[in-house]
Amino acid sequence: MHFRTKQIHAGVEPDPTTGSILTPIYQTTTYVQESVDRYLSKGYSYSRSGNPTVRALEKKITELEGGADTACFATGMAAIQAVLLTLLNAGDHAVVSDVAYGGTYRICTKIFSRFGVVFTFADTSKPDDVQKSLRTNTRLVLTETPANPTLKLTDIAAISEIARSRGIPHAVDNTFLTPYYQRPLELGADLSVHSTTKYLDGHNATVGGSVTSRSTELAEKIRFVQNACGIILSPQVAWLTLQGVKTLSIRMDAQSENALAIAKFLESHPKVDRVCYPGLASHAQHDLAKRQASGFGAMVWFEVRGGVASGKRIMDSLRLWSLAENLGSVESLVTHPVTMTHADVEEAERKRVGITDGLVRLSVGLEDGEDLIEDLKQALEKV
Ligand code: PLP
Repeated sequence: MHFRTKQIHAGVEPDPTTGSILTPIYQTTTYVQESVDRYLSKGYSYSRSGNPTVRALEKKITELEGGADTACFATGMAAIQAVLLTLLNAGDHAVVSDVAYGGTYRICTKIFSRFGVVFTFADTSKPDDVQKSLRTNTRLVLTETPANPTLKLTDIAAISEIARSRGIPHAVDNTFLTPYYQRPLELGADLSVHSTTKYLDGHNATVGGSVTSRSTELAEKIRFVQNACGIILSPQVAWLTLQGVKTLSIRMDAQSENALAIAKFLESHPKVDRVCYPGLASHAQHDLAKRQASGFGAMVWFEVRGGVASGKRIMDSLRLWSLAENLGSVESLVTHPVTMTHADVEEAERKRVGITDGLVRLSVGLEDGEDLIEDLKQALEKV
């Protein structure tokens, strides 16, 4: 089946009792059992351990990612937390992309390090760096590609190969490209992680997360943590996300088309110093972007002449673009990573990995591309 058909039909079927075409919101805590001997005969006992609306979303994401099973979580950070809790014990070591969402860096350095886990933040765009970072006690390689916010890419197949040769699971944060454009499990990764808050929902309506496993064995371990720690997704959020996913490919294509047009506009603008978008030939890893994904996504960043002050002036002058955190939704958003999404990353570490003070991050939405460019044009005139 093609992706467009799967995103609508996978995981869901008309409600068996009413015929409702949409999976209902099963707003319930518990499930009445037929008899002691037939406990769990309908598959559900208590909503922390499983809920039919959440299950429908988990099945849908499983089919889209091409995995064995998926577990959904309260947020993308809860999903990443579940991966770390499942695979790491005190005394273990993990290799993590040196550029990743600030919250990923924070949970490693401020939470898991307290429990005796040691992290190496490696340049995962260089397979050699990953190879050199591995230790005898490395139990996880966690990469994010394209990375937030610098859009540095990691070669998923190459890193999966290195990890597999040492028996180490490779988890990929696939939030930026979604399974429509990039399927890490097909490229050899063991886990594909999402902040469903972003493109899968796509409407700035919810926060949620998911982890899809390549094997049922790993999926069972992840589900154990989901239930044991109670970091579950609510049925209402699962229901809204189920509706969002149905238009994923259409939104991704239209938003990516806008992103390319905007990146080209910025690249030709005299006041812009640097533009980064994996779909531009000028992106250092443009060939890898073409090889491992079927689209380039809708995240762009740029630096404007005049540094931080000019960048701030532009962000404050935009009318159609909202100055806000989050990404991946139909509304176009502009973010200043240094003061917003990556404020918890130490200055020296930010500088080392290229998150500069003047970096302006764009999450390109579904509005008309010409209107978005017009707005950027007028904001650039104020500089
Ligand atoms: N992964 C990436 C790439 C992100 O950009 C984010 C949030 O921005 C997260 C994970 C965390 O997701 P959430 O905000 O849903 O917890």
